[in-house]
Amino acid sequence: MNRPARALIDLSALRHNHALARRHHGGRVLAVLKANAYGHGAVRCAQTLADEADGFAVAFLDEALALRDAGIRAPTLVLEGAFSIRELEAAHAHGLWVVVHHDDQIRMIEQAPVGLRDLHVWLKVDSGMRRAGFLPKTVRSAYARLAASAKVSRITLMSHFASADEPDAPMTREQLATFDAATAGLPGERSFSNSAGVLAWPEANRDWARTGILLYGAHPVPGLADELRPAMHLQSEVFAERMLDPGDVLGYGATFKAERRTRVGLVAMGYADGYPRAAATGTPVTVGGRPARTLGRVSMDMMTIDLSDLPGEGIGSPVELWGAQVPVNAVAQHAGTIAYELLCNVKRVPLIYTDSPSPI
Ligand SMILES: *Cc1c(COP(=O)(O)O)cnc(C)c1O
Repeated sequence: MNRPARALIDLSALRHNHALARRHHGGRVLAVLKANAYGHGAVRCAQTLADEADGFAVAFLDEALALRDAGIRAPTLVLEGAFSIRELEAAHAHGLWVVVHHDDQIRMIEQAPVGLRDLHVWLKVDSGMRRAGFLPKTVRSAYARLAASAKVSRITLMSHFASADEPDAPMTREQLATFDAATAGLPGERSFSNSAGVLAWPEANRDWARTGILLYGAHPVPGLADELRPAMHLQSEVFAERMLDPGDVLGYGATFKAERRTRVGLVAMGYADGYPRAAATGTPVTVGGRPARTLGRVSMDMMTIDLSDLPGEGIGSPVELWGAQVPVNAVAQHAGTIAYELLCNVKRVPLIYTDSPSPI
């Protein structure tokens, strides 16, 4: 028998969530597949959405080339743009779209060999996040330089939200107003919304949305009615049991001390698989479909859970670490992080693709 740890990837959930993004947004949607599709496997996710996606987005060139190597021909945007003229040439050779977010990337286009033609450039505006992009007062001159280049045939204007996941934060509206003013009158399509924008800020919808986390079924805005379906089910099994007496301590650092007789299940899943070590005692799991909780520190290869109230469960019982029964957002909260980080940290466990996950 194999080690039972695995990440079941429900491709029907991916399609469902993508269709939902399109319904909410109305316009075209780039499915964001950076970081190996947030841990779900970029090539397989691209193949799954090939017929319905208007295009894909990845962070950097090598991620895009991996899709091209796998035969994915759909429009693909490189969100960080080129790091060198050579990267720009490779992007051009593969028909990739590139973000331009700082001066040096305009210089690369200007200095690239003259044979480079028909670039579709996404000009990124810093509408307030102050991380990447052209400041509003420099947008028009950046645009003019790109428009003057014979190598550029199309300019799309984009920006990125800093806190669209906070429904009451005034910043999102301010960013929209800043973007609209900075780009007023400039020809070209517009793109603003990420997942939180699509789900919570209909007024942010422009020609293109760029949705990542919602495709994978983790809601970026906690508390909003959740029509999303989780694409990843991180699963394993109990492979051994232990009985603790009152006063016994458990695991590294002896952080858990039993107050009563406690039946502990050992689960084949650890932080080397991407389960967060920061998840403290009490983080939710399910065993045989029933709620339980973690005990003590997560180890590299295994973790410990409380079976005391589940007399019917033991060695061989299926455990869900996150998925349909345990929202990945809940685990993230217990680990002091966000679902994004948990999902894209999943490694070492096999990714098993299915169109209909069976409940455990
Ligand atoms: C990652 C990324 C997105 C997707 O964000 P989600 O919150 O996962 O939807 C969109 N735009 C840019 C520029 C990104 O880097």
